Amino acid sequence: MVENVIQTQIFELTGGRLCLDFTNTIEDRPSDHPHELLNNYSDLVSWGKQAQALTEHESQQLLARAERHPGEASSVLAQAIALREAIYRIFKAVAEDAVPEADDLVSLSAAIAEAMTHARIVARAGGFTWEWIDTAVNLDRMLWPVVRSAEDLLISDELDAVRVCASDTCNWLFIDTSKNHSRRWCDMKSCGNRAKARRFYSRKKSASVDV
Ligand SMILES: [Zn+2]
Repeated sequence: MVENVIQTQIFELTGGRLCLDFTNTIEDRPSDHPHELLNNYSDLVSWGKQAQALTEHESQQLLARAERHPGEASSVLAQAIALREAIYRIFKAVAEDAVPEADDLVSLSAAIAEAMTHARIVARAGGFTWEWIDTAVNLDRMLWPVVRSAEDLLISDELDAVRVCASDTCNWLFIDTSKNHSRRWCDMKSCGNRAKARRFYSRKKSASVDV
């Protein structure tokens, strides 16, 4: 059981919002050698499951369908990556007080409009809620909550708290919910410590040069 949990924790979910976690599925983006974490359709399903955009049952249904429709699965993966990069550029621009590219906003709007064709208002005890329909037959089903999350964040007060990780090799996005709005790293344990270690070694190096 424990082994199973460890195996499913492939992705780091440090963004604080589903749409930001989705943009953080590539490592070392600004470097010459970015490390892609979504290399096939099943990676996309694994991410969706770990990020709770998909249930276990939905994940199994999608993987089975993808096996029967491999061409469709690879075009969904390509579509997912293009959308991820558009969402990334939009929120990176926001974090840097710049205006996002109009084309990226158009792409996101189109994805939101498409996702909402699969949304229904349903009654539940004490009120109503959104529910997704046709979840077993649409291979892009994990992208629907992602674009909804992007839409919600873009029009929310929390938009001011979107940050880019201060590590120049990382550039992951996150919501800074720290009390004094001073969080600089996507994750203190990885990027924060790496940066600290680099500073430590460069201090040591310059100290030894001085001697
Ligand atoms: Zn980082």
